[in-house]
Amino acid sequence: MTATTKMVYRLAEGSAQMVDLLGGKGAGVSEMARIGIPVPPGFVITTEASKGFFELGRLPDGLWESIVENIQMVEEESGKRFGDARNPLVVAVRSGAPVSMPGMMDTILNMGVVDETVEGLGHLMGDQRPAFDAYRRFLQGFGNVVLGIDRKRFELLLTEAKQRHGLQFDYQLQPDSLQTLIGDFKQVIKEATGAGPSQDPWQLLRQAIEAVFSSWNNPRAQTYRDFHHISHEMGTACVIMSMVFGNLGQDSGTGVLFSRSPATGEKVLYGEFLVNAQGEDVVAGVRTPQPIANLAQEQPGTYQEIEATASLLEKHYGDVQDIEFTVERGKLYILQTRSAKRTAPAAVKIAVDFVAEGVITREEAIGRVVAGEVSQVLMPRFDLEAKQRAVGSGALVAEGLAGSPGAAAGIAVLDPDRAVQLSDQGTKVVLVRMETSPDDVHGIIKAEGVLTSRGGMTSHAAVVTRGLGKPCIVGCEELQFNVEERSFSARGKTVYEGELVSIDGSTGEVLVGEIPVVPPNPDDLAELQTLLAWADEHRRLQTWANADTPEDARLARQYGAEGIGLCRTEHMFFAEERLPHIQKLLTVAPEASRLAQDVDTLRALARNAPAVERETLAQRMDRAKLDLEGSVSVREFHESLAKLEEFQTTDFYGILKAMQGLPVVIRLLDAPLHEFLPNHDELVKEVALFSVAGADADRLAAKKRDLRLVESLHESNPMLGHRGCRVGLTMPEVYEMQVRAILTAAGRLTEEGATVYPEVMIPMVSHVNELQWLRPRLEAVVEEACKTMGVEIILKFGTMIEVPRAALTAAEIALEADFFSFGSNDLTQMTFAFSRDDAESKFLRHYVESEVLPWNPFTSLDTIGVGRLMRLASEEGRAAKKNLQLGICGEHGGDPRSIAFCDALGLDYVSASPFRVPVARLAAAQSAMGLLKPS
Ligand code: ADP
Ligand code: MG
Ligand code: MG
Repeated sequence: MTATTKMVYRLAEGSAQMVDLLGGKGAGVSEMARIGIPVPPGFVITTEASKGFFELGRLPDGLWESIVENIQMVEEESGKRFGDARNPLVVAVRSGAPVSMPGMMDTILNMGVVDETVEGLGHLMGDQRPAFDAYRRFLQGFGNVVLGIDRKRFELLLTEAKQRHGLQFDYQLQPDSLQTLIGDFKQVIKEATGAGPSQDPWQLLRQAIEAVFSSWNNPRAQTYRDFHHISHEMGTACVIMSMVFGNLGQDSGTGVLFSRSPATGEKVLYGEFLVNAQGEDVVAGVRTPQPIANLAQEQPGTYQEIEATASLLEKHYGDVQDIEFTVERGKLYILQTRSAKRTAPAAVKIAVDFVAEGVITREEAIGRVVAGEVSQVLMPRFDLEAKQRAVGSGALVAEGLAGSPGAAAGIAVLDPDRAVQLSDQGTKVVLVRMETSPDDVHGIIKAEGVLTSRGGMTSHAAVVTRGLGKPCIVGCEELQFNVEERSFSARGKTVYEGELVSIDGSTGEVLVGEIPVVPPNPDDLAELQTLLAWADEHRRLQTWANADTPEDARLARQYGAEGIGLCRTEHMFFAEERLPHIQKLLTVAPEASRLAQDVDTLRALARNAPAVERETLAQRMDRAKLDLEGSVSVREFHESLAKLEEFQTTDFYGILKAMQGLPVVIRLLDAPLHEFLPNHDELVKEVALFSVAGADADRLAAKKRDLRLVESLHESNPMLGHRGCRVGLTMPEVYEMQVRAILTAAGRLTEEGATVYPEVMIPMVSHVNELQWLRPRLEAVVEEACKTMGVEIILKFGTMIEVPRAALTAAEIALEADFFSFGSNDLTQMTFAFSRDDAESKFLRHYVESEVLPWNPFTSLDTIGVGRLMRLASEEGRAAKKNLQLGICGEHGGDPRSIAFCDALGLDYVSASPFRVPVARLAAAQSAMGLLKPS
């Protein structure tokens, strides 16, 4: 900065484009002045000046002189003089950074009121009371912001003064009591600083400007910037403008309004005002403001003017505006305007309405909506005002991870049986548990929502509720359970079972009491469809969905899914009538496999044995074969398998039918086997119990057998254990059964005239040999099934890329696979060596807060590390096989920044949960249009 740099701009010289230099507020008032909207006269000191101030520790050379000159201009415009005893100019000294930092930095009002000017101001106002009130406010603001005196010391005196006179409101204080109060305030300042406040308005002004600059670095503002990743470098501008007074009587007032409802997007003025009050009174909540609509009756002329101005500003900016205004004796002044924050449904409606009104283009509309938020339009949610009221009165008791979106309210219930019981009686319940397991599923199904104190985004509770489309909060570690009292507590509040709680699965907030839940609005859905149809014209990426059931598949299709990228098959085994069969299968599998192995071993021995031994071996083999054929275990093994095949055929039939005409990627069993068995610790307890009771010998034996099985399948690290294709290799019958079921279902549908495109996906592959071993066996099943049914079905075989070794050897693997689908969740777990549940519930939040990691890599792809593996696998996979189909089926497939990355990689599709499909459609369009960048 040189001495000649222009550091002060008159409002008329600035414009909306100059946000970096003049700050948001300064650019806003300048633009309004430029287009003829009534703003008080004033000027802006630039952010550059503030940077100079930070560097030098004082105002840069020449700045003060410019300020004085500009004050003189305001004096001319207003016909008043700063510091004049009879005709004083009073100004506001307002801070305003280039980025909105609501309430984080300090503004000083009523600058220029001192002992000498206060009565003159009273004459100008035609009333001494508001003048003394302005002085009182000034001392309070100046004392706090500039001199750093605790706000409370002033407020306490104010409250006492009101109490002394038996008054309720500030504005009821009469001049004499205000004068006393002013004396008290000066005394406070004197005590704190050793001297009373200066009586030289120019010196006060200078101090105030310096304080506004300094407030850029106050701890509140720094924390806010850290939290929102706003640069600390940009500095703040300072707007100085003539004060206007909304407290001069019944024809004066102040308020804030939105040009449309920020909650619903409806085209009505939305806001509040207070008659006979100053701006800060609305925020401070001293009196309850009235809805803006009342102004239409009370001051119809002003209301019309406000309406016209709001509409003008909205058109001018092409966006909904959040406006601060003050009316001084019937004359309207606009003090601030900015783009309004809004809910997701409002954002969608506003964007679509603006296109209809010709304010913006369709392309602009696509960019106006935050892609990540559109799924909120599809969810039940809390009534916004009711929630704000509840939060305001301290109902927020804890915050956890937003496990599954949507809102729910109901009676807190701590066990699943109770949940079922109460829900069957027609009571809405929220299931609250330390964590959940398959044993809780009946309760989860009946509950409105689930809250757990442990676990991350892939914990049982989160996965199951997302599948069911129910809200869920997990990892809410603040909750302390008291089992005996049947209660839990957090932040000093205790909730007993039977009391009402509300949970917001989109934000992770837990509230006591019942907040009304409103269902998604059909009009909102229609508007969303309109916006998404526009988006579809721009995107390159296809958007598929993850769905395990026909209902989910239908939902996904309704939201625009163009295929199923991940149909998990393990959930299909968990259902109540199925679990016994898989458990049976696992129980008899060791014996069945030992018997089969015996035959194989003997056969191999016989092949190589010398002639003399052959006969004995042949006899032994006959016996082994007999054992195998006569074995109960083997029979039961095949019976269970057949039963499961029946169930699976029905499942696949349903989902393929729902998705006819579109591809469905079915992943063969992935979960570690122990997940299908009872909990180890519970079994140990039961065995102990039955042993003591000594009564039921049969049951004890059965429990003991279960326990042995559970222990034999126990895994030290199930994430890296016996799962995925590893089970496929050791127990090929299971995968063969699944493929047969897919074929049977597809065959039936084909006969019925449907076109179906099933694809088989093999999970957890790390070495090409695994595929080489499995693929021919599964293809043999396909061939046989097609022959039996007399149909021709082409089944694509592909693999997940979720193990780093698979990504690194993609060129080899591609030769054995028709497609790759990135299992980005496991790939992230294995690339970081983070087990997600542990990471998210124990240390990841700390990592992100202390900026060790820029964000949670399970939510948004780590494009540098995990992304590098994906790039390598994509490029080398496609180099080896040109038409290799590439997709992603991890949750990242529904995260906008990750979607932009996948778009840049050239993947064919992203696949996300049905509710995220609209997010993906919008994000893919924004990415294609260059409006969304990969992280
Ligand atoms: P913030 O960024 O905290 O909203 P502002 O600078 O916008 O700070 O102002 C604080 C309060 O003072 C607001 O209520 C605003 O309407 C009011 N205000 C700002 N400038 C003036 C002015 N020139 N005359 C009267 N009130 C004002
Ligand atoms: Mg403001
Ligand atoms: Mg996986």
